[in-house]
Amino acid sequence: MARNTCESSGEKLPRWSIFKRTLIKKRYPIECPHCGNELYFTAKSLKLSFLLIPIIPILFTLLYLWDVPEKVLGITIFAVTLSLLIFFPFLVKLTDKEESLY
Ligand SMILES: [Zn+2]
Repeated sequence: MARNTCESSGEKLPRWSIFKRTLIKKRYPIECPHCGNELYFTAKSLKLSFLLIPIIPILFTLLYLWDVPEKVLGITIFAVTLSLLIFFPFLVKLTDKEESLY
């Protein structure tokens, strides 16, 4: 079973749209662009996102405290943010039923 696939229309959701909707627009659930079906992250995916997203501010604070040069700090934050952007949608799975976290 492929990830990022709408269970009702069987269409694939663009990875970027998943990222954009959840992290930038904070729109949830994700609406399938093909059939309008509402999609949710699986409980496991949600937990993963809670673990991954704080990495950026934590890393920023650590590097700042370690007194690394501004250029290095900028490049590191940029690289980590970019990797999250690229890999996050590969790690999450969508479902059309909202799953309880607990
Ligand atoms: Zn659909």
